[in-house]
Amino acid sequence: MKILAKQFGEMKKSPNMTAFFPEKTNPFNWHISFKGPVDSDFQGGIYHCQLRLTDYPDKPPEIRIMNESGAYLINHPLCIHGLSANNPQDWTPGTQISTIVEALAMYMNLRTDRGGSGFIHQLDQEVIKKCRDASVRFKCACGADHSTLFK
Ligand SMILES: [Zn+2]
Repeated sequence: MKILAKQFGEMKKSPNMTAFFPEKTNPFNWHISFKGPVDSDFQGGIYHCQLRLTDYPDKPPEIRIMNESGAYLINHPLCIHGLSANNPQDWTPGTQISTIVEALAMYMNLRTDRGGSGFIHQLDQEVIKKCRDASVRFKCACGADHSTLFK
């Protein structure tokens, strides 16, 4: 719990991502808004994910993306090697949550090996741009409002 509180505070200071509690009484369910990776079609977009940290830091979180990106399916458990609950081999206990989110951002732009669960297998530039433009107006019940975030 202490570990989570510390990381939540650190993330609030990050220029690239910020966290929310969608359920005020559940500190293990986080929503995180993060910027699309620079030098990619996702740059300028803001994406929103849910992390279930029930077994963290011993086990990785379940990760779901909450808004359209063109890179990931919505509300579908994402399979990211060593960093997600459905692919926990090679997990390093204590891996920072910000590191997981950075990987999530980086893998949006992955050109090959998009076969993992929750990945959209073929990137389509037009779809990505449409999603990116919509992503900066996205609002979530957790309190995230992308129209004012990172301004
Ligand atoms: Zn949210």
